[in-house]
Amino acid sequence: MPEKVVIIGSGPAAWAAAIYTARAALEPLVFEGAITEDNRVSGTLPLGQLALTTEVENYPGFPAGNLEAYLDDSIDKSKRATMAPHQKEGVSGPELMELMRQQAVNFDTRVVTDDIVDVDFDGHPFGLTASSGEQTQAEAVIIATGARANYLGLPSEEKYKNRGVSACAVCDGALPRFRNKPLVVIGGGDSAVEESTYLAKFASRVYMIHRRDQLRASKIMAQRAMDDEKVEIVWNSTLEEVLGNDKDGVTGVRLGSTVDDGKRELEAGGLFLAIGHTPNTAFLGGKLELTAKKYIKWTVPFRTHTSVEGVFAAGDVADDYYRQAVTAAGTGCMAALDAERWLAARE
Ligand code: NAP
Repeated sequence: MPEKVVIIGSGPAAWAAAIYTARAALEPLVFEGAITEDNRVSGTLPLGQLALTTEVENYPGFPAGNLEAYLDDSIDKSKRATMAPHQKEGVSGPELMELMRQQAVNFDTRVVTDDIVDVDFDGHPFGLTASSGEQTQAEAVIIATGARANYLGLPSEEKYKNRGVSACAVCDGALPRFRNKPLVVIGGGDSAVEESTYLAKFASRVYMIHRRDQLRASKIMAQRAMDDEKVEIVWNSTLEEVLGNDKDGVTGVRLGSTVDDGKRELEAGGLFLAIGHTPNTAFLGGKLELTAKKYIKWTVPFRTHTSVEGVFAAGDVADDYYRQAVTAAGTGCMAALDAERWLAARE
């Protein structure tokens, strides 16, 4: 028997879709992603990007206050023990994701900890292949695989990945190798500010390298970077090479000016990329229509329908504009309702 609904992904969009489809008696099966070194390096582990952040101050329903007791009651004890202590201003990204997952499981959502690596949308029911080789058939599919952090693509950056080069300050910044050393962050958006101010807690100094003379970050975030004494913004500059050696990993960076021929070297124990994201759509193998930036194309205005009837998309994998946890959860709910109505109409 084919599954009624399979959900691929495990961020806010996926769990919202799971909660809604479960409550509609569609018995959803979620492929939450595999726990592999490749997924760790590329930032695509289960629970998505929010699991790689610290405080979430803008998700409605989690105001300032002590949520410890609530969290202790809601999340499995062994998992709670591995989570960073809760701060005072709301909920953390990992906490929020565990809560969402648990809420979906409470309604009998079944979860497989594996990646879907191939899809067959030619016939119906649809065919899905997991990395284990397991085949699953589904009457409807909701894709909520999110997006992941970009790298610049320099050979030296690749060479020092995991040896001082990272795209996730929050995951890696507290490692001993980065402590009390000057660090470099590339980018001028909210993420770059967030990463720089986070790293400033551990580093001796943080250089935030931006290719223009104006930040893309929101005013409140930009001010946060300007106000942090340990953060120095290096304007009109790009990264040309990551400097290092086999013994120490990253030891510095060479920068080029975007306004003249100037070059500059900075000593640094680590390099953090914060230059935007790429949607996780490669596994679709061109079987769904994508936008020019490779996000899944929503084909009906204000709906989550895709170019294949019965396949729906939710969250950052189809949204390069809002990219918020709350909008992802919102479109996850929409995809669940769209899938439910589509299945009902077929019957
Ligand atoms: P973003 O807003 O797209 O900013 C990316 C930054 O990287 C830009 O400054 C861009 O430069 C730079 N960049 C891109 N490609 C580059 C390259 N090849 N070389 C050098 N620099 C490059 O991405 P984001 O900062 O990840 O933010 C994404 C979304 O999440 C935004 O909507 C943001 O508001 C939100 N966000 C919010 C928070 C928060 O509220 N706490 C935190 C993080 C993210 P240019 O400016 O020159 O294009």
